[in-house]
Amino acid sequence: MEALKYKIKDITEKGYPVKETVKVSELQPEGVQSLPIEEISIEGLMTKVGHNFLFTGIIEGMYIHLCDRCLGEARYKLRKEILWLFEKGICDEYLNVIVKKGNVSETKKSKQKEREEFDELAEKRVYQGDEIDLSPYVWEELVLDTPYKFLCKENCAGLCYVCGKNLNYESCNCNKQQDTIGEVVNTKLSELLQTVNLKLKEE
Ligand SMILES: [Zn+2]
Ligand SMILES: [Zn+2]
Repeated sequence: MEALKYKIKDITEKGYPVKETVKVSELQPEGVQSLPIEEISIEGLMTKVGHNFLFTGIIEGMYIHLCDRCLGEARYKLRKEILWLFEKGICDEYLNVIVKKGNVSETKKSKQKEREEFDELAEKRVYQGDEIDLSPYVWEELVLDTPYKFLCKENCAGLCYVCGKNLNYESCNCNKQQDTIGEVVNTKLSELLQTVNLKLKEE
């Protein structure tokens, strides 16, 4: 999991170029479902801005999945422009050091305050220690951009429910037959209703 980690000391105001192709499986956190995308490329510039770091760039890749209708191949191009600001995060060790100082009530208050500040920072993108790891944020983007529906083409005709033929390439008569059956049933039904009606009137 060394991909997409950058040493702070390498990043200057002039910028540090990022250009990598990464297997998505290397970005995948443990215990989460995999995504239908195998590889991504990321290209951009990491720049030092005051005490913070800015990453601007583009993530590109291709989602490939079975078509929801016909089970053929469905492809969706991913091209996402990125602008991430990284601030230094307060890690838990730092919180513990603060807790050890001062008396109990003060400690509680300061811990609370630090925790709030920490939570606020967590809303932004943070880095810990001497490196910035882009992988969790790239993973997040890939999750957010995964399409809900996969279709090989917008008007995919799908598979026939009855005979299983791929209706994009072949035609079948199942639907027509069903229509015929439907018509017959409807006719019989209206006939029956008419008979019942007549009988009711007679009585
Ligand atoms: Zn399809
Ligand atoms: Zn059919």
